[in-house]
Amino acid sequence: MNLIFLGPPGVGKGTHAKLLSERFGIPQISTGDMLRANIKQGTQLGLAAKAYTNKGELVPDQVVIDMVRERLRQPDCEKGYILDGFPRTVPQAEALAAFARIDAVVDLEAGEDIILGNLGGRRVCRDCGATYHIRRLDGATTCAACGGELIHRADDQPDTIRHRLEVYHRQTEPLITYYRETGLLINVLAEGDIEHDFALILKVLDLE
Ligand code: AMP
Repeated sequence: MNLIFLGPPGVGKGTHAKLLSERFGIPQISTGDMLRANIKQGTQLGLAAKAYTNKGELVPDQVVIDMVRERLRQPDCEKGYILDGFPRTVPQAEALAAFARIDAVVDLEAGEDIILGNLGGRRVCRDCGATYHIRRLDGATTCAACGGELIHRADDQPDTIRHRLEVYHRQTEPLITYYRETGLLINVLAEGDIEHDFALILKVLDLE
């Protein structure tokens, strides 16, 4: 089961990819997480990526294509994987088609008010990257998984959020047509709570 989770920032790709990954024991491959890990470790790739991610711009295609190609060669991908946040441009999708066989593309959709609410209230663990939302945190300021401090991502601030959504509409949305034409696209309206939307995803993928 080789899947792509497509959709705007804040729609829940990471949350649902993680749940699916845990349920089926296949890796969640988040290019955003991989880039943030590189930035944190101060690698050359991280230094190059930081200027883009902080502004909400996309990192150059070739950087993420090489990163994903390398990642998919790892043995834990043999039984399947969930791509979360990749591809984000048509050239990335075309490159992916040359080195991966994708079974389905889940396109998560939600109204802009829901997306803005999700991103504005999102908190992430500085240490392990786990994601939370203030509406479920009950005032907690540390990570339930590792005790790390919860922070508001620099690119989840209002101005950058607006820019990321523009970038999504301009550069990533064309992928909906691209994958519809391949017959792989499945639309899911992700406007309910996490449990409800996850059940919907399992259903459309025939994984109940
Ligand atoms: P995310 O955590 O998926 O929202 O990604 C955070 C940031 O990482 C994005 O705003 C981009 O700057 C960068 N990024 C993640 N995935 C990609 C990708 N496939 N192509 C280009 N840039 C990406």
